Amino acid sequence: MTADACWQLLVEALDGVHVCGRRIDFWLRDDDAIEPTAALDRLLSLVNAHAVPVTLAVPPEPATQALARRLAGLGDIGVTVHGWAHRNHAPPTEKKQELGGHRPQEVVLAELQGGVERLRTLFPEHFVPMLVPPWNRIDPALLARLPEAGFSVLSVFGPEKRSPIPLVNTHVDVMDWHGTRGCREHRLIVADILARMRQVGGDIAGCEDQAGGTVGILTHHLVHDEAVWDFLETLFTVTAGHPACRWRKTSDLTGR
Ligand SMILES: [Zn+2]
Repeated sequence: MTADACWQLLVEALDGVHVCGRRIDFWLRDDDAIEPTAALDRLLSLVNAHAVPVTLAVPPEPATQALARRLAGLGDIGVTVHGWAHRNHAPPTEKKQELGGHRPQEVVLAELQGGVERLRTLFPEHFVPMLVPPWNRIDPALLARLPEAGFSVLSVFGPEKRSPIPLVNTHVDVMDWHGTRGCREHRLIVADILARMRQVGGDIAGCEDQAGGTVGILTHHLVHDEAVWDFLETLFTVTAGHPACRWRKTSDLTGR
């Protein structure tokens, strides 16, 4: 399949949703902003050009006043808590985790509460009480206690599972982390979007009941190659003006 053909499939899928009088909710989560950079400027300018809201997952400990100044006054941005320091506490034999079961719950929760307070102070206009665990991993035993630290929503990667705290996940990752460490093939990313659309929209062709949920796109502006920027440009061009697509703000997702 050519790249153009895969985008045509996405347009046809959205057209099918529209024919049924429905809309599908998309959202964009971009991780790891701590300071203003050329890559962040590029992301903000791209989303602004297409009026797409963006949710930034910001590690509180290294987040800078300069980032707060850069975002001040901008609309359609949500700032969420990306762990505390984005520091690994797992041994080398395990996958990286900051919020795993390697430290006492009280220690982790105190850090997270500190993260809520720090980001609420730095980004008063944009803060939303969503936790985005670094590396998308968290000790399941912590979930029920996240409201104590100030959170109302958790966001990791993959289909939402049953959880003691509401989940608004990302489902489509643009990066090829284990291969080129650049952009995945565009047709594969679009295929993931179509698969998720089928999950949240039921049988689109048959106009069956909508299952609910969002299509969450995950990006990491600091490591994007040109192919990622091209992908996002095309994605926003295809979707942002389509009547069947609604790009949601973080505050719409968290109910705050
Ligand atoms: Zn991260």
